[in-house]
Amino acid sequence: MAASRRTDFDVVIVGAGMVGSCLAALIAREETLSHWRIALVDPAVPRRPNDSETDLRVSALSRASERILTAARAWEAIEPHASPYQRMVVWDAASTHERPDALRFSAAETAEPNLGYIVENLRIQWALHESPWLAGVTAVRSGLAELECDEDSARVELEDGRRLSCQLVIGADGGQSVARRLAGIGRAGGPYGQTAIVAHLQTAQPHRETAWQRFLPSGPLALLPLEDGRVSLVWSTSPEQADSLLQCSEAEFNERVSEASDHVLGDATLTSARAGFPLALWHAREYVRPRLALVGDAAHTIHPLAGQGVNLGFLDCAGLVQVLAEATSKGEEAYGMRVLRRYERWRRSENALVLALCDTLNRLFAERSVAVAAVRRLGMSIVTQQPMLRRTLIERALGLGGDVPALGLRTHPRGSS
Ligand SMILES: Cc1cc2nc3c(=O)[nH]c(=O)nc-3n(C[C@H](O)[C@H](O)[C@H](O)COP(=O)(O)OP(=O)(O)OC[C@H]3O[C@@H](n4cnc5c(N)ncnc54)[C@H](O)[C@@H]3O)c2cc1C
Repeated sequence: MAASRRTDFDVVIVGAGMVGSCLAALIAREETLSHWRIALVDPAVPRRPNDSETDLRVSALSRASERILTAARAWEAIEPHASPYQRMVVWDAASTHERPDALRFSAAETAEPNLGYIVENLRIQWALHESPWLAGVTAVRSGLAELECDEDSARVELEDGRRLSCQLVIGADGGQSVARRLAGIGRAGGPYGQTAIVAHLQTAQPHRETAWQRFLPSGPLALLPLEDGRVSLVWSTSPEQADSLLQCSEAEFNERVSEASDHVLGDATLTSARAGFPLALWHAREYVRPRLALVGDAAHTIHPLAGQGVNLGFLDCAGLVQVLAEATSKGEEAYGMRVLRRYERWRRSENALVLALCDTLNRLFAERSVAVAAVRRLGMSIVTQQPMLRRTLIERALGLGGDVPALGLRTHPRGSS
């Protein structure tokens, strides 16, 4: 259904991070929505990564995300910087990575070429910014300050005083979403009491295209393979330990990381700065309100232990665009609550499942009692021997489990997607 011309835009997307930019590209690409006038609002200026730098923030991207980013015409620019991983090894600190109770997954047991990719966030962000689908999108360099939505339209006021009217506002403005707060949408959850330390390391032994994860009682430590042979460290631990890891000498840091990773790749040497990110589990109680929808971290934040955060955000984008396009092609009012609720029912229930699974894993592995540790290891050895369970877990890791939006399931020819 064509939007009325009384508003400045059909859709105003608040937040041009990875999720907001992907959403703008997917809307512009969708034939039934391609007449929509899109504004992408964000005060941050996109930055072209230079070849000698490595972003400390990386994401493990699933197969579904690869397909969605291909549809968004960003994958071609991401691929040369993407480090595919073939294997995943997960073990309990009370055991070792060589024991039979360590979980091992391999692309060889699937019909897939790999289990996913590790990519720097800056590369993903820039590739999306450069997508040809964004050529017709209006970039607005300011922040959302006020929001007013009613049954007929929405109006946003920006920090620089500009006002924009539109048919639909989409909040893609991250974990501290101003759009969500201004819409009065509450959220469930809270801080984990953990901080993730990230850094890049050179290890004595090669990473062998494997994502390694050791669960310590204070939180999981992951070594993720990078394209240049180094590994990206994501070590979730108590805020006190995180502070001391950020402040200690490099030599002490190297020693502590090597020990905490059980020397799985030999001695580790810091090759970058270090940064810490406080972790929290939040889930918006609603994803939609009249003339408003939330996507990505604005709707949910998750523990990084399974590398799912932005992957869920990309699935939100694909799901929302699918719902809007199907409604438009049936002649329904795409901005109406009936249609928006379809998106909410679909994506909120899918996300709730993954959020709960990651939260349970984090709690289970944090349990120090000897009895729980024994049950945990028994559970892991059962998983290693159950083909059905293994397949389900691998499908989830690939982003292909559950009710996946069509864009995540389909392969798209490059350039023409
Ligand atoms: C340590 C760590 C490791 C992680 N590893 C992974 C992983 O391996 N795989 C994975 O899938 N996910 C991972 N994640 C999660 C992932 O980083 C997030 O899910 C993702 O960054 C969310 O993207 P987003 O675009 O929704 O939000 P953000 O990246 O937060 O972007 C929000 C955007 O909104 C803008 N904005 C904010 N306020 C306003 C406003 N008022 N007006 C306008 N614009 C505004 C900001 O400038 C920003 O550009 C990890 C997270 C952490 C902390």
